[in-house]
Amino acid sequence: MRSIDHWINGRTVPSTSGRTGPVFNPATGEQQASVGLASISEVDDAIAAAKAAFPAWRAASLSKRADIMFTFRQLVVANRDEFAQIVSSEHGKVPSDAAGELARGIENIEFACGIPAMLKGGYSEGVSGGVDVYSIKQPLGVVAGITPFNFPAMVPMWMFANAIAVGNTFVLKPSEKDPSSALFIAELLKKAGLPDGVFNVVHGDKVAVDRILDHPDIEAVSFVGSTPIASYIYSTGTANGKRVQALGGAKNHMVVLPDADINMAADAAVSAAYGSAGERCMAISVVVAVGGVGDKLIDAIKDRLPKLKVGPGTDPTAEMGPLITREHRDKVASYLESAPGEGATVVVDGRHADLPKEGFFLGVSLIDNVKPGMGSYDDEIFGPVLSVVRVDTYEEAVDLINRHQYGNGTAIFTRDGGAARRFQYEIKVGMVGINVPIPVPVAYYSFGGWKASIFGDSNIYGPAGVDFYTRTKTITSRWPDPSTSSVDLGFPRTR
Ligand code: NAD
Repeated sequence: MRSIDHWINGRTVPSTSGRTGPVFNPATGEQQASVGLASISEVDDAIAAAKAAFPAWRAASLSKRADIMFTFRQLVVANRDEFAQIVSSEHGKVPSDAAGELARGIENIEFACGIPAMLKGGYSEGVSGGVDVYSIKQPLGVVAGITPFNFPAMVPMWMFANAIAVGNTFVLKPSEKDPSSALFIAELLKKAGLPDGVFNVVHGDKVAVDRILDHPDIEAVSFVGSTPIASYIYSTGTANGKRVQALGGAKNHMVVLPDADINMAADAAVSAAYGSAGERCMAISVVVAVGGVGDKLIDAIKDRLPKLKVGPGTDPTAEMGPLITREHRDKVASYLESAPGEGATVVVDGRHADLPKEGFFLGVSLIDNVKPGMGSYDDEIFGPVLSVVRVDTYEEAVDLINRHQYGNGTAIFTRDGGAARRFQYEIKVGMVGINVPIPVPVAYYSFGGWKASIFGDSNIYGPAGVDFYTRTKTITSRWPDPSTSSVDLGFPRTR
């Protein structure tokens, strides 16, 4: 069985903890590798390597750091197919979804290439006689990232690109379910000229995470994952005096007003609900059909579903892959089992689809007449299940969304600019799409939900990322007027 090692100080380091986790090929259901789960001392080794690398990396010029980012970006682009294949083989998403993930990740590297401009401070000359005030942004030291399984390439890029470009050193603890992308990133960063120790990877579970949260040399922690763990990371990390940003789960609603273009809305709902098998924190999982739009919309969605080809990433015609594990597939399927008893209508049941026999597959599913209080409405299902809630008015739609515990993303489909503008004003959600189902902000904005979708006040990547990974230092300086100074400068004083 192939074993997957840590990456510490520029090289692979096998785990000696004696604890391992299985890495499956979700499309076949077979275990393809075994990942070493770090002990406390292995995490300490990675943090020590990052700490030792920090002084020299911090002192590297801005142009040197930007140059490495440019080279890294070129390498990711040049190795895009191999990278997508690594993502697909462990996560299960089809190569086109993996390529999309890489494209959105690469944006973050491109943003980090411009870091010299982002680090410019402010300067006020002459705030008083001979006194100037200016501010500079300095790196924090060793920072850590803890990432989920669903975007094993992109979510780490949300974090480390800015973190190391501003001069920090980094320890990544990726998901133990699909750990190989993190190692591929480490190899490409080394090829790009990143000094050893600046970027390290430790694989692991709660043991590794808890060590990161209590290690005195970790200055800041970025987390992306489920809400219960995000809450735990935020409370524990901040109690230990660390800067923490922790992004959690989601339940994203797509409102369809009666005037919407139904075909456009149905296409959007299908791609946003079932892309990447619904395992996206910005996936649409509830369509809110307003007024009389419900029947037309459900028919249009239902028409599209048989055409969506489910299969392994090795099948070039497949549009949706398997789920990450057997347990997760079964949990997602359990919502189809319980929905009728709660009063909902299962319109399309993915359990009865014609699916590959092996692997963790579930077909696309559609549930109608879903209401608050039902499991399929209240919970984050995180699979290829789309629920439909019918409401009479726009106000009811807004109220429904504003009362939900999650507030990551949402979208409205309408031809009415006034309604869309009112929606963006009233809705209590962090990222809003207007006729755009998955409004993930481009890398020069920042990403973050509201309510139980985020803990802490810092969004991730873009300008918010630069702020999160730096501390501001403000300097007030006084220099005597040279014409009145008694020091011999060795040249005539002129004004
Ligand atoms: P998860 O919370 O199970 O795991 C995330 C990370 O936390 C992993 O590295 C894992 O090893 C670690 N972890 C798991 N249990 C832990 C524990 N008890 N103590 C300490 N660490 C622990 O999430 P997941 O299943 O990998 O990813 C799916 C979740 O991530 C979904 O809820 C999804 O919405 C969310 N997500 C959110 C965003 C966002 O931007 N808000 C983006 C992607 C995914």
